[in-house]
Amino acid sequence: MGKKRKVLKMRCDCGGSFKVGTQEFDGLEIDALVCSKCGFVTLTKDQAKRLMKLRQMMDSLGKRKVVRIGNTCGVTFPAILVHPGQEVDIRPLMPNKYILTFGK
Ligand SMILES: [Zn+2]
Repeated sequence: MGKKRKVLKMRCDCGGSFKVGTQEFDGLEIDALVCSKCGFVTLTKDQAKRLMKLRQMMDSLGKRKVVRIGNTCGVTFPAILVHPGQEVDIRPLMPNKYILTFGK
């Protein structure tokens, strides 16, 4: 008879169960585990990694100035985040707000 693997369902200390929900950390929105009973918030290893990466990005980006490049204008990014030739999709959200999605 083989050992049966029991799937562990994470439980909060209060006995409630966790559900995935969007939470805000320092102005960053990420998925987290939220106790449906007491509201305690915790992160899985992957969620914590994601938050760390976003915090690192936020620290290295911050406020920047538009620079002139020939007849056009541009915004620079730290080389640790992007690389020359990388594709970027730019979509306006509001007249002064854009969503930038970087490809590989
Ligand atoms: Zn709880």
